[in-house]
Amino acid sequence: MRQEIEARLKGPISLPSPPGVAQQIIELAQDPEIDVGRIAEMIGKDPGLSAKILRTANSPIYAQRRRSQNLRQGVLVLGLNATVTLALSFSIISGLRNGKKGGLDYAAFWRRTLLAATAARTAGELIDVKQTEDLFLAALLQDLGRLALDRSRPGFYAELPAEASNAELLSYEKTRAGDDHAAVGGWMLRNWNLPEHLCRAVELSHQPEQAGTGTDSGRFIRCVALAGELADMFVSANRASAMSRLGPRAMTLLGLRPAQLAEIINVVARRAAETEQLFEMSLLDDHDAGLLTDQAREILAIRNLAALNEIDDLRQSTDSLAARTEALEDASRRDGLTGVFSRSCLDERLAMEFDSARRNGWPMSIAFVDLDHFKDVNDTHGHQAGDRVLRATAQLLVQSVRETDIVGRYGGEEFVIIFPGLNQESAWHACDRVLEAIRRTTHDVGGCMITATASIGLATHTSQISFGGVSKLVHAADMAVYSAKHNGRNRVEAFRPTAPGPTALAG
Ligand code: GH3
Ligand code: MG
Ligand code: MG
Repeated sequence: MRQEIEARLKGPISLPSPPGVAQQIIELAQDPEIDVGRIAEMIGKDPGLSAKILRTANSPIYAQRRRSQNLRQGVLVLGLNATVTLALSFSIISGLRNGKKGGLDYAAFWRRTLLAATAARTAGELIDVKQTEDLFLAALLQDLGRLALDRSRPGFYAELPAEASNAELLSYEKTRAGDDHAAVGGWMLRNWNLPEHLCRAVELSHQPEQAGTGTDSGRFIRCVALAGELADMFVSANRASAMSRLGPRAMTLLGLRPAQLAEIINVVARRAAETEQLFEMSLLDDHDAGLLTDQAREILAIRNLAALNEIDDLRQSTDSLAARTEALEDASRRDGLTGVFSRSCLDERLAMEFDSARRNGWPMSIAFVDLDHFKDVNDTHGHQAGDRVLRATAQLLVQSVRETDIVGRYGGEEFVIIFPGLNQESAWHACDRVLEAIRRTTHDVGGCMITATASIGLATHTSQISFGGVSKLVHAADMAVYSAKHNGRNRVEAFRPTAPGPTALAG
């Protein structure tokens, strides 16, 4: 029987072979010499695929602080492995999404599949399984066998009741084809030359207990399987009962606590909209998404989870220990008075960001912020009043810039803000916002209301105006502060390289 469908599926018409671009991507991915340029070039041949990759790189799931302007940058942001995997996902879907052969409902199929893929990635992030894109792809492919079976013979699924359970589906397939879709999917992927861990995840998608919990590969497989069950719940007609079954499964398969499962459901419901856009498919309507979020909350209250909550308590005491350790570590990175990054941490981040900017050809700006006539504040109102103003100012800096910008105390009444990826113009705007916030804020020091101002020196590293090292960039910003002070304080000045030109900065 198996040979029979195998033979059928291998025929030129029936076997869903990887669609054209996907085939090329798989081949390219096997080349050890693969590089960003070649991947970008190949993806660039397909305008639709390019647009999707770029949109993904700029979507909240991946977007860092830099917006990718072109495919090459997008590939850099995503990373090679993720790009290949995503490109494969996109092209497989667009190649296989249509068709109605053996009675399979394609729209419902892909809807469930994309939800599973989104869930796999989300769960993977939470339990820290590396290769989240691989999880996405594995979940996307886990039911590929159903497409194959559907195409193997007219009306293959025609007699399957719409409300059949997973167990009924598997036994229906086994009776008719000798193998279920998990097995068929597994050997199809081997045929396509996809990596072994993807094939295994598909093969074991309905018996994940066979995979161990202790290993990364075991957790990968379990994560894909749980994602499938999560998607089943999402599309189930009776969500409440599907949800109550899911809690114990999440605990058994991955040791996920109810609260963690609820978090995953929330994030998937939120991300569904984005996945919809990327794959041009409708997954959940707004009402559904809202409902799911409500149910995610309810899951915490479901009765048969009481037992799990006891285990949960045990785990939580372990977790809170870990959280305390983390808090301690964080404290050592913070400046004691102001709470922003300490000088040593700031130096580390400066070096890291500069290195990354230089390697990737991104701009990077830094602002040196020095409070004006701060000595007078101390002299007039006392050192404690000065401390209070320093603390408040540090908070203003943090609030005025983006979360991805880095604020640290350089020393005394001097702060540094790192703006990774920002050119001079954007950083200038941010500095204006900072000055405005400082100016507008009044401080109550012992019943006396005072205001403060600051001078900011800005320096920007770009691929055109390149600094030889991060200390040179900091020095340039420091020099610009002097100009700001000289020109009247309470203002921003940017460092402008003088003759003989940018190369003078290098070395
Ligand atoms: P300018 O506009 O030229 O920057 O004048 P300034 O008075 O701010 O500059 P100066 O560098 O002469 O003085 C810095 C003052 O900042 C002197 C010092 O007492 C004060 N200061 C430095 N660290 C702290 C601190 O942790 N707490 C308090 N309260 N004051 C500090
Ligand atoms: Mg100073
Ligand atoms: Mg000062």
